[in-house]
This record gives sequence, structure tokens and C-alpha cells, in this order.
Amino acid sequence: MNPDKIERENHKLEKRLCRLVGQAIADYAMIEAGDRIMVCLSGGKDSYTLLDILLKLRQRAPIDFELIAVNLDQKQPGFPAEVLPAYLTQLGVPFHIETQDTYSVVKKIIPEGKTTCSLCSRLRRGILYRVARELGCNKIALGHHRDDILQTLLLNMFFGAKLKGMPAKLVSDNGEFMVLRPLAYVAEPDLVRWAQVRQFPIIPCNLCGSQDNLQRVQVGQMLREWERQHPGRLDNMLKALQSVVPSHLMDRELFPFETLQTTGQPVGDGDTVFDAPDPPAGPATPTLQSVALPLPTRAPTGPRASSSASSNSQPAAQPAL
Ligand code: SF4
Repeated sequence: MNPDKIERENHKLEKRLCRLVGQAIADYAMIEAGDRIMVCLSGGKDSYTLLDILLKLRQRAPIDFELIAVNLDQKQPGFPAEVLPAYLTQLGVPFHIETQDTYSVVKKIIPEGKTTCSLCSRLRRGILYRVARELGCNKIALGHHRDDILQTLLLNMFFGAKLKGMPAKLVSDNGEFMVLRPLAYVAEPDLVRWAQVRQFPIIPCNLCGSQDNLQRVQVGQMLREWERQHPGRLDNMLKALQSVVPSHLMDRELFPFETLQTTGQPVGDGDTVFDAPDPPAGPATPTLQSVALPLPTRAPTGPRASSSASSNSQPAAQPAL
């Protein structure tokens, strides 16, 4: 590609990232004047982009708010402790590196070969809440993006039997902080590209030696395959999360099925009996075959997926910060 074209493409990507992050911030009223936001920085592409785009948006925001980058050095073997301080110093952003050897704690408590992520995440959450409190932050921004949200939705359906994703904004479980996900509308491939454009000094995410969450990896592959076959499907799935029709689901807490009465009057969103509503036409409209998972030819259902589904009733783990 010629340099002018690369430049134009990069500029388009930057505009798209700023637009999508700005839109998510506006839609969910994420940021108010006077906020002090702790931006969790792991050294991966997502959190670097989060900080980068928030800094750009802050420059043109009509309100004042503060961003403080925070990294938790968990003392994993090989963690390059100098990388983030050097990057953040050169950026001129206020930052704090919290050093806590959770790696040794986890290794001591969890038997060899067992998954360490749930204890590690619990420890990390407690530390980050304490740091946010000490830094006087009222909000915590995380780098989860559209594809993380959709993976979590499907994992919770498949293994946790819950229609539950990962929200763009929610109060923390201890009730103290507002947790924000400003990248909620951003597609992962855009984050990969932006990390290359900006040449972020990426820190590898496998230093703890823990196995990747196999189910999350498989669901991620499935989503990417769907998107490859039907561009736009993942954006449609995200939009579906913003357009829920409780009467057409089956949660008795959300819709009063037990006390439902006929009125004799037409009901706009009433049941159409045998006629399943047609999906709207468009490039992302699925065909019947394409709704199926990409399956191995000889197995009627994904062998790993089905065995995991029957054996694992735990809610899906959240991706790392
Ligand atoms: S993968 Fe992440 S959450 Fe899991 S043990 Fe390693 S650092 Fe902790």
C-alpha cells in the first residue's frame, strides 16, 4: 500500500475509534465533570488503546475530568517492570504502578495444574479497589471491548445458563466505584490495528503461565468465523443487547406472564402464532445454515463444546484486565 493510503486508513481508524468510544461514553453517561478515573493498564493492546483514545477525547471534551493510569505488577516471572513507567512518563500522564506479588500467593494456594485465574482475579480486584480508593478515584475504566462482551454473553449462556453479558457501565460489586467499559462498541480487529499503528510496547499476557480459558478461546474463534462469513453480525449482536424485548424472552421476573390478560385489542408486539417474524434484510441477515456453529464434519455438535457444556456449570470467567 502506498504511504498516503496507509496514512488515510490510519486516520480513518483513529476517527472511528474516537467516534465509537465517544458514542459509548455519551450513550451510557459514563463521564461527568470532576470525575477522577482510574484507567487500568495491563500492557495489552486493549488497555493501551483505551488510555490513548480517552486522552484524545479529554483534549476536546467540554468538561474537566482526570485520568490516572494504574498498572498492577503481579510479579509474574519475566514481567518487564520498566516498560509501562517509561511509556507513561514519556506520555506525561499521571500514573501509579502497584506492586503486589499475587503470583506467589496464587502459586502457593492453588495446586499445580489447577486453573489459577479465579483466585488471581479476586486478589487483583481487591487490590485495584484499594488503589482506586487511595488515589481518590470515583470511576474505574477497563479495556473490555465488543468482542469480549459478546464472548461473555455466549459463555454465560452456554455454561452459566444465564442471559448475561458484560455491561458498558455498572457499579462495582462492593458498591464503591462506577466501572466503565468505554471500548464497548469497538471491534477487536480495530484494536489490533491501532496497536500496530501506535506501536504500543505490548507486554505479553501469558507470563503467569496459566492456560488460556479454552472455552473463551473457542467462543472467540466461533465469533470471528461468523463475522468472516457474514460481516456485520457481531455489530448486530451487540445492538441486540441494546434492544431487548422482555415479552419475547421467558423471564417471569421481567415480564408478568402469570397475570397476562387478553384485551381484544391488537397488540403491537403481540404473538404472531405460527409466523416467525422475518429477520430484516441486509448483509448481516443470517441464513439457517449459517446460524450453526462451524462444526467438524463428523460430529453433529462441537465435541469440546458439548462435553464442556454438560460438565461445566460455572459462570464464564471474565477476561483479564
Ligand atoms: S491469566 Fe490473568 S487472571 Fe489468570 S492467572 Fe494469569 S494473570 Fe491471573
